[in-house]
Amino acid sequence: MTILALWVLGAAAAGVNQGSVKTLVDSCGFFPQLSADGQWLLYSPTDATSLMLKNLSTGQVTTVADKNYPGFDAIIGGDGKVYYVTQQRKKNGLVYRTAHCYDPSTGKSQVVLKPQHGRVQPLHASYGVVINGERQVYRSGNSVGAYCYTRGTSLVVVDATGNSRTLEPVKRSNGYLWASLSPDGKKILFEAASRGLFVCDLNGRIIGNLGEFLMPSWYNDEYIIAMSNAGNTRTNGSRIWLLSVDGETCKPITPKDERAVQPMVADGKVVYTVQYSGEVKQMELDIAPAVLPTVPRDKGVVEKLKNAPKKDIPRVFINPGHGGHDSDDRHVPTWVIGVQDTMHYYESNSNLTKGLALEEILRDKGYETAMSRHTNTTEDDLDLFEIVSLAANSGADIFFSIHSNATGIAKRVNFPLGLYRGWDGQPAVEGSLQLSNAVMKHAATNKLAVWTHEERSRGDWSFYTNWGYRVGLGVLRYNKLPGMLSEGSFHDYLPERERLLNDSYCWLEAWNQSLGIDDYFSLSKKFKKGVIAGTVRWEDLTRQDNDTILFGDDELRTVNGALLRLYNSRGALNRIFTTDDLDNGVFVFTNLPPDKYKLELYYGDNKLYNTVKVNVKRNQTSYKNLMLRQDQKPKKH
Ligand SMILES: [Zn+2]
Repeated sequence: MTILALWVLGAAAAGVNQGSVKTLVDSCGFFPQLSADGQWLLYSPTDATSLMLKNLSTGQVTTVADKNYPGFDAIIGGDGKVYYVTQQRKKNGLVYRTAHCYDPSTGKSQVVLKPQHGRVQPLHASYGVVINGERQVYRSGNSVGAYCYTRGTSLVVVDATGNSRTLEPVKRSNGYLWASLSPDGKKILFEAASRGLFVCDLNGRIIGNLGEFLMPSWYNDEYIIAMSNAGNTRTNGSRIWLLSVDGETCKPITPKDERAVQPMVADGKVVYTVQYSGEVKQMELDIAPAVLPTVPRDKGVVEKLKNAPKKDIPRVFINPGHGGHDSDDRHVPTWVIGVQDTMHYYESNSNLTKGLALEEILRDKGYETAMSRHTNTTEDDLDLFEIVSLAANSGADIFFSIHSNATGIAKRVNFPLGLYRGWDGQPAVEGSLQLSNAVMKHAATNKLAVWTHEERSRGDWSFYTNWGYRVGLGVLRYNKLPGMLSEGSFHDYLPERERLLNDSYCWLEAWNQSLGIDDYFSLSKKFKKGVIAGTVRWEDLTRQDNDTILFGDDELRTVNGALLRLYNSRGALNRIFTTDDLDNGVFVFTNLPPDKYKLELYYGDNKLYNTVKVNVKRNQTSYKNLMLRQDQKPKKH
C-alpha cells in the first residue's frame, strides 16, 4: 500500500464533513446531475415532464426542455453540454426516442439523433458522451474514449478504438444496471439486479462485491457512492453510502430518516434527492476527488449501426410482482376440499405463472419481451429502482406489472383493477390510460370468475391519495414508459384464490392481457388463434363454507376431475382437459384455429353428460360454463 492510499483511507475513516451539506433545490429535483466543474445542476420533476438546469453560482434556473418527457435519464457531459432523450408514442403504440444536446453557453437545443425505436441512452465516456441507440449512435466527438453500458443480462465494454466486448461477470442475474468505468478507466462498476453491486476488471473478473446497493457512482478510483433503498434486506432504509472497492469502507453518509435516493458524484461533491419531496442536497467528503481529463467541446458524429433491426417490433416489459415467499409476498393458506389438505397460495407464484404465460403468448404473436424475473426466489424480489431501471434499459414500448389484489379488510369483492401513474383520467405518461382500459376491458370478459363490480382503471396518485402528494406505487414512480400495474382479481376472495391456484386460469388471465395489449398496439386483427375456457360446477350442490362470503355461481361447488373432450368441425378429437382437484372447475383450451367445435363433458366412469357447440373466433376467448346435476343420467354415446 502506498503512502497516498494510506492517507486516503485515513481521511475516509475521519468521515464525512457533515457541515458541508447544503440544499441546492427545494423541491421537484429528481435524478440530479452535477456538471464536472460543480457549477450546474440538472434535474426533473417526478413525472419527467421537464428538464431544469440551475446555475449554482447565480441561482438562475433554465428550462432546458418541457415536451415529451425529457427528464430522468439526462446527463451533463464532461464538455458541459446537456444530453437528453425525449419520447413520442405513435398511433400504433410504438415509442420513438429522440436525442438532444443543449448548450448552456448558447441556450440552444439541437436534435443529435433522429427518432428511433428501442433504447436510447446517454452515457459518459472517458473523453465525451455517447448516446447509445439500437439503430444509431451519437458521439460527442471523433474520439470519446472508452465507455460501458448494460443491456439485459449483458455488460458491454467499448474500448477507445470502438471495439466492443460483452461480459457476463455475474451469473444468475436478472439483468445488469448502472455500469460505469472508473476514472482511471481500469475498472467497471455495475449492479447485477437481485445480486448487488460489483466491481470487475475490463475482462469481467470480479474485484469487489460491495453488497445490496443501487445507482452507484465512482467518487475516485477507490471510493464509490451508492444508495440503499427502503425494503432492502441488508440496509433497511433509503440512504446514501460510501463504499470502497476493497470492501473496507461501507457506511451510510446520510441520516437514517432522511430518505435520500438517486446519488451522483462530480467535482468531489455528492448530490442526491430526498424521496417524494425532491429536495436536492449536496454533500462534500474529506476524500480527494477523482482527477478527470478535460473533455473537448467537439462536433458530434452519428453512426448508423450496420446490424440494426430491420423492423420496429412492439416491445413489452413484463414485471411479475413480488418474488420469493417472504418479505412483501402475500401468502394465504387455503383449505382445499378436493385434496383434503391446506394449499399455500402465494401471490408471487400466480404472478409469475401469469408473467411466464404472457411472455410466451406475446413472443408467439411476434412481440419482443423483456422480463424482471423468471424464477421465484428471495433474490427475485427486486428493488423497485431495479425494476424501473431494467424497464428503461429494455427500450420497451410499455411497462406491464402483474399482480392480484386483496381488500386487506373483512369485506370481499372481486373485480379487475388497472393502476397507472398519475391522477384519475390524467396519466403522468401519455398512453398509460389507453393501455389500462384495453387490458381491463378484456380482463372483465373472463366468465370463469364471478365479478362483484365492473372493471376500472385508476391513477395511483388518486388511488393512494393518503400516501402523499404524487407518491403512488413505487414500481411506477420513476417509470416514463407508458405503463400499468394489473390487479387482475382479488385473491382474498376464496373462490378466486382457488382459481388462481390453477395454472390454466393464470394462463387465461395472461391471454386476456395479451388481447388488451393487441388492442393497444392496433394488432388485434393480425392473430389467428382463439381460446375456449369455462368452468364445470354442480348445479345442485352449494358450498358449505360457513365463514366464507360467496357471490353468484361461486355459491355452487365446482366439479373436480371432470373430463372435457374437444372435437373440431371435421369430428377429429382436438384435445382433452381434466379439471383439477383444487375446487375451481377450470378448463382452458389454448391455441385453437377458428372453427365450430364440439365440447363433450364426461364425469365419473368416462360417462358422457353433456355436449355443447362452441364457436372459436380469431384472437378471442370463447366462454362456456357447464353444469352437472347429482341426479343427472349419463347420455348414450
Ligand atoms: Zn402484489
